[in-house]
Amino acid sequence: MSHGFPGNGAFDRRLRANTTLNGAIALAEFAGGLFSGSLTLLLDAGHNLSDVAAVVLAPWARRFSQRPPTTRSRLRDPTGRASRPFSGS
Ligand SMILES: [Zn+2]
Repeated sequence: MSHGFPGNGAFDRRLRANTTLNGAIALAEFAGGLFSGSLTLLLDAGHNLSDVAAVVLAPWARRFSQRPPTTRSRLRDPTGRASRPFSGS
């Protein structure tokens, strides 16, 4: 899961390890919940699955946050005009 940013290799490895472990825990909890009839285990499996989704989205969010600003991304006031945050108006 390399995204071409220097120094992100260790971070990507940790994200992959986190995804793998959380996914394995979710599967184990799901199987245990079905086997034992425990709604708690089934619900926590769902919780862990949502954690996996969040971690899978993290590299995309990081890449998006590192994009250079565009003219469209400047702060705007409710009327749609470009704001001047340090002008005192
Ligand atoms: Zn969680």
